[in-house]
Order: sequence, then structure tokens, then C-alpha cells
Amino acid sequence: MTAALPAYSNHIGGASRPAIGGGWLDSTDPATGRVWARVPDSGPEDVAEAVAAARRAFPEWRAHSPARRAAALHRWAQAVGEHAEDLARTESRDNGRVLRETRGADLPGGALHIEYNASLADKTAGETVDLGGTASVSTFYEPYGVVGVILPWNAPLAMFFAKVSGALAAGNTVVVKPAEQACCSVLAGCALLEEAGLPPGAVNVVAGTGERAGEALVLHPDVAKVHFTGSTATGRRVTELSAEGLTDLSLELGGKSPCIVFDDADLDAAADGAAGAIYTGGAGQSCVAASRLLVQDSVFEEFTARLRDRARALRVGAPASPGTDMGPIAFAEQYRKVLSYLELGPKEGAETVFGGRHGPDALSEPDPDLSEGYWVEPTLFAAEDNGLRICQEEIFGPVAVALPFSTEEEAYAVANDTGYGLAGGAWTRDLARARRAVAAIDAGTVWINTFRRLHWAVPFGGRKQSGNLPSNGRDALREWLTLKTAWIEPG
Ligand code: NAD
Repeated sequence: MTAALPAYSNHIGGASRPAIGGGWLDSTDPATGRVWARVPDSGPEDVAEAVAAARRAFPEWRAHSPARRAAALHRWAQAVGEHAEDLARTESRDNGRVLRETRGADLPGGALHIEYNASLADKTAGETVDLGGTASVSTFYEPYGVVGVILPWNAPLAMFFAKVSGALAAGNTVVVKPAEQACCSVLAGCALLEEAGLPPGAVNVVAGTGERAGEALVLHPDVAKVHFTGSTATGRRVTELSAEGLTDLSLELGGKSPCIVFDDADLDAAADGAAGAIYTGGAGQSCVAASRLLVQDSVFEEFTARLRDRARALRVGAPASPGTDMGPIAFAEQYRKVLSYLELGPKEGAETVFGGRHGPDALSEPDPDLSEGYWVEPTLFAAEDNGLRICQEEIFGPVAVALPFSTEEEAYAVANDTGYGLAGGAWTRDLARARRAVAAIDAGTVWINTFRRLHWAVPFGGRKQSGNLPSNGRDALREWLTLKTAWIEPG
């Protein structure tokens, strides 16, 4: 381990702290394959300290009026805006997301998400129930207390801002366990919390592996609610663990989203949309990637040719370079997983329509400094059978499968032939067909003539094995609140 590497610390009770056990984990720059920073390898003892700090902070934070909580969140959003450039660069270095995305979308979007959640701080009213007679019966919503938030690595800051501001707006205090593979940006941003006037302990961040720090957070008896974002497999494990204390649980999980291209679609717009939703959007490391392209047979050749043109024009390279469209896969294990699907596709009988190269061969221009990076070329397989593993399993990389269909009914049947239900969409100029597609696709969000569009004010959430809640929008506030009924008799 090189002493000169930056070391990012946990944030507990308003102070920067290494892990109590003294352990560190390496964080790798996926563009070079070289370790560039260290993060704490925290364990149950660090989680216990963070939960205790959050418990201590809860009475004060909860006692603040909604207006005062909102004011603190506004100050936090402002501080995020002032430090956006540094934070965006840190995240880009850490997980390979192109700077254009972190600086152009995640950071400004994150600050606006905090502002939006601040505006919800006083929207916790319940209802009055009229029973006749003299009883006064009403419901209202209360914060849980200490909530645990577990984050993935693909867009850590954007999710940190969204989840933590929602939890705080509702009056909770928070312990966050970001993903060990990419948490430097979140840890770097913690210094802004108390600067913005949030009480020490209102937000605590503990870095470490899922098995040690993540499980300890889910199992901690003082954590009243866990909000988990990550893969469906880990979501299942977290669900099992939460059964121990019957801890309330929200899940935002994986996807294998179908993008249907009908023969009446604007094929250029559809090709642009698909390229953005599976290649440039986080190099396919996006829960709402358009990973299955269902294309009507009469336009199959034409559409895939246009998508190939777009893919060939994309520049794969250093995330911070202004001309880069696609960065690397975020870390070595995920890279190996994506490569295993590149091998699996042809073995399962899929045709490689374009792409398939990896390592330095996938770079748009040779660069010795990037030769050990985790590069994957934008890739398209064509297959007839939606039952193939490449059509059913979340690859989480710039790899799509195109499946031809002939009738609208067939398209919907294939679209829904998946365990996931996060999102889906269709490209068509026919308004009646658009309405039918919205009704027929069994997913939390259905896009028409667009894809992978998210906004803090628009509810978003999965069905089936993709999760159980709306995030974003007003309804998301309820995820951070628990219902209470008051039944008052005059005596
Ligand atoms: P992951 O499930 O491997 O890890 C997510 C988090 O869970 C990490 O912080 C990890 O350390 C932690 N974890 C791992 N094992 C744990 C355990 N046993 N107990 C408690 N915590 C544990 O997911 P990932 O690879 O980091 O992220 C990619 C996945 O996240 C994809 O499936 C993607 O679709 C999904 N995702 C979903 C959404 C959404 O909004 N639905 C958003 C982003 C990412």
C-alpha cells in the first residue's frame, strides 16, 4: 500500500474516523486498473457507533419544525452545488462514470433532489376519520427514528443525496453504508453536512463490505427501517436478515428492461434513445438500462444497422476527457462478470451484431495509461429466444440483446417474460398503441418515445423482483414515515 494514496474516512457523529479495527480497503481507478485511494474496512463495531450517534441526534432533529429541517436541507443543497466540481471528479475517478454525467447530471440533479425533498418536509399530514359521535380520530405520519441506507456503486452520490435528504426531510436520522467498490465521493462529501448546519450524528456514513458492515446495519436492533438499493440477489439476502428483527424494508433492485421498437417508430429517435439507454448511460451500469431491444421484424435489420452506426460513433475512453461518451466498467469483479456474458452469448447461440471487444481493444484510441482499464465495447447480440441467460439475467454493462417479434401481442408477451419489473418502453407514432403499451408492460415505469428518463419529482420504482417502492416524487416521502392513529374520546 502506498502511503501517498488518499484515504477517505467514515463520518460518525460529525467527525471523520477510520475503522475501529484499523482495516482499509483499496479503491481502484477502473480506467487504469490501479489502486488510487483507500476506504475504511468497517465492521459491526463501527456500525454500532454510527447507530448510537444517529440515536443521540434523533430527538433534536425530530424536534425541529419542518421549516427548520427544510432550511438545513436547502443549505446542504447549496453547499453541494458549491463543491460540485470536486465531487463529480472524485466519483468519476472512483467508478469510471464519465465526468459529463457526474458533473452534468448527477451533481446538479442531486442538489435539486435535496431541494425537492426539503419542500416535502411539511407534507406529512394524514387524514381525519369521521365515525360520527364525539370521537376524534385522525392519522398522521411520524419518522421511524434511525434509518439504515445501503447504496450501490453505480451512481453513489446521486443516490446518497436522494435517499438521505428524503429520510432527513421526514425527521429521521441516518446511517449510510455505501458500496465498498466506489464510495470515495460519498465519504468526500460528508464534510459538507455539518458545515451546512445539520446536527452532528444526523447523517453518518460507514464504509465497508456488505458482509461485515452491511449485514451489521440490517441486523442492528436500533435501526427501525432499512432502505436497500442494489442487486436482486443481495436484496433477497437483506430480506432474510431483516426477518430477524422484522425490520421494515424498502427495496430498489435490478432490472432487465424491455425497449420495444414498433415498425411505425421514428427509427433514428429510437436508435438514439436505445444507444443512450444501454451504452452511454453509465456504460450500461444502470438499473434502467435498455438491455432487451424488442424490434418488429420488418424493421429489425434497419434498426440494428442504425444502432450500430451510433455505437461506432461513441468514444470509449478516459472518463474525465470532454469527448468521452463511455467510460469503463466500475471495478474488476464486475468487469469479469460482463466478460463472462460476452463469452456466453455466442455459446448460447446468439449472433454478435456488433461489438464484443474488451480491454485496450475496446478503447477508441490506444492509450498506454489506460491499457489495464476495464473497457468493454458497445455490444449488441441478436437472439430469437428470450429464454437465453443473456436475455434473462442482468448483465449491467454495455451489452444489449435484440429480439425480433412480429405482432404487438407477441412483443408484450416477450417484454413481460422476465422476473424483473423495473421499467420498459416502446417507440411508436401510434397514440392508441402507446396507450396499449403502457397498460401491457408489467413494470413500474413505462416510457413512450423516450427511455431511461428519471426526475426527482416523478415516482419511480420496481415490481416483481425489481423492488417494492416508489422512490422519487411525493410518494417517496412515505418510505421514511410510519403511520400513527390517534383516537381521542372526550372523556
Ligand atoms: P450489490 O447488491 O452487490 O450491493 C449493493 C450494496 O449492498 C453494497 O453497498 C453492498 O456492499 C451491500 N451488500 C452486499 N451484500 C450485503 C449483505 N449481505 N448485507 C447487506 N448489504 C450487503 O449491488 P451493486 O452491484 O452495488 O449494484 C448494482 C445493482 O444495483 C444492480 O442490480 C442494479 O440494477 C441495482 N440498482 C438498482 C437501482 C434501482 O433504483 N432499482 C438503482 C441503482 C442500482
